[in-house]
Amino acid sequence: MFSIHGTGIGGGITIGRARVLESRRFDVARYHVPVAGVDIEVARLDAALAEVKQGLRSLVAHLPGDAPTEARALVEVQAMILDDPLLCEAARQQIVEDGWNAEWVIASQADSLARQFEELDDAYLRERGRDVQQVADRVLKALSGSAGPLPGTGEPAIFVAADIAPSDMLSLRSALGFAIDLGGTTSHTAILARSMNVPAVVGLGRASELIEDNEWLILDGEAGLVIVAPDETVLAEYRHRQASTLLERERLKRLIHVPARTLDGMQIDLHANVELPEEAEHAREAGAAGIGLFRTEFLFLNRREPPGEDEQYEAYRKAVKAMRGRPVTIRSLDLGADKVMHSTDLSTITNPALGQRAIRYCLAQPELFLTQLRAILRASAHGPVRLLLPMLINCNEIDQTMRLVAQARERLRERRQAFDEHMAIGGMIEVPAAALAVGLFLRKLDFLSIGTNDLIQYTLAIDRADHAVSSLYDPFHPAVLRLISMTIRAGQKAGKPVAVCGELAGDHAATRLLLGMGLSQFSMHLASLLTVKREVLQADVKQLRPKVSRLLGSDDPEQVQGALRRLRNAPIERKDVLDDAS
Ligand code: PEP
Ligand code: MG
Repeated sequence: MFSIHGTGIGGGITIGRARVLESRRFDVARYHVPVAGVDIEVARLDAALAEVKQGLRSLVAHLPGDAPTEARALVEVQAMILDDPLLCEAARQQIVEDGWNAEWVIASQADSLARQFEELDDAYLRERGRDVQQVADRVLKALSGSAGPLPGTGEPAIFVAADIAPSDMLSLRSALGFAIDLGGTTSHTAILARSMNVPAVVGLGRASELIEDNEWLILDGEAGLVIVAPDETVLAEYRHRQASTLLERERLKRLIHVPARTLDGMQIDLHANVELPEEAEHAREAGAAGIGLFRTEFLFLNRREPPGEDEQYEAYRKAVKAMRGRPVTIRSLDLGADKVMHSTDLSTITNPALGQRAIRYCLAQPELFLTQLRAILRASAHGPVRLLLPMLINCNEIDQTMRLVAQARERLRERRQAFDEHMAIGGMIEVPAAALAVGLFLRKLDFLSIGTNDLIQYTLAIDRADHAVSSLYDPFHPAVLRLISMTIRAGQKAGKPVAVCGELAGDHAATRLLLGMGLSQFSMHLASLLTVKREVLQADVKQLRPKVSRLLGSDDPEQVQGALRRLRNAPIERKDVLDDAS
């Protein structure tokens, strides 16, 4: 028995036999083709490229209805790589000019492209280098005549691999879990594993070499741990833990239709964060009272041209319809920093998180912004829509946006297209400057939503995507807590709703704290909704308020941590709400 540590992607614990997938890399032959054979070699490469592209397109076309929502986009990215002249045109040219064989040129072009990605600072873009390698591997398989689905994947197993392409992952739907050598939390593998809701650990180093096919494994997606060939005692312990986690998940489902009300009768709105319109349906079914954050930029990523007005309108309308009268908060484009469109040139931006992102980007591109505003307004004709503006720092940004909203409305009136004349417009508090000058925003906006992910990043000067400083990323730093609390109190005084839509809203360890600050609107990743609801049902806001107010009085991080622990561990005076719900 031995264990290997990596980065846990979540999904709980799974126990099963290992199915080690073949190594990703191939030994690629390198030879010169005779001058007379150059055209044939180019045709061979083109045929392989066409075969892989066709394979990926057909995979997209035949995705099952229950495929993860990100799946389509991920496979499409790989199909698009095949159109990239830096890969294919350059490879063809190398055959013609230097006379190398097709395998060698495609592998060396992919290596050099992937190296360029790997040198980028941005974690998301670094991962795209792996997409290039995965596409090249498919082309190599096609050249060798062995392209096709992964073999023997019917039996449920824990898949172990150096890396798995998203397209291959889709054919592994019987997976009990994934143990992957490469990747970080923003890797496609991680994104897909999360949406498939199976346990996964990435960044395991040499797991695929150390683990033998058919060996028993325990995979703990929370702790980021793989135990290989566990003994009976360890196995029994993890079987017990696994059973309790599953039982707990099932029990939580009883809360879906229970109103989110605290013990002292305060009504709490638990909303969902979504990235794609298809997720709205799941949000409603899981009991979300609305969409608190629709991150629209995901409609713009991984494509060359931004979606047009009609395409955006259809996407927003789909979410609104799926929510059947519950509010849908659509955030205007938050591009920039780690979320960039294909066409964006990053090479000259030294610090993208402090650069032209979010509202700044939109105001600099009024046509793009107007297109989105018209699409959002049109969607508001189908149900309660709220427009949310990201990363505000001053009133100018609101004034300029309001002028553009007026223009967008005017255009729709000319076209006789329906929209809600009273659509609420709110702003995100994500920068300390906005939290400190929150009165300005409250005067001009209908509601606020606190983006704690960025608020923590900008308050503590910690890049949220940088692993090297991740231990300093502290959501409970006294400065962060005071900014959140100030914003909530200011909203209450002005009689305007304030929500939290960053990751903190979905952290059940923070629920009592936020309730004690007076927060009544939470928006979070769907997977956290019921755990947070249970916390809400067991909380007494009147009792929490004085405790939280004392906690906020301290500027010593250790004292705050101690007070938080006491707050979380305070005994619950009633029996388990799940028993009541059954
Ligand atoms: C946030 O910053 O907390 C937020 C919700 O926005 P995003 O994570 O999309 O930057
Ligand atoms: Mg943000």
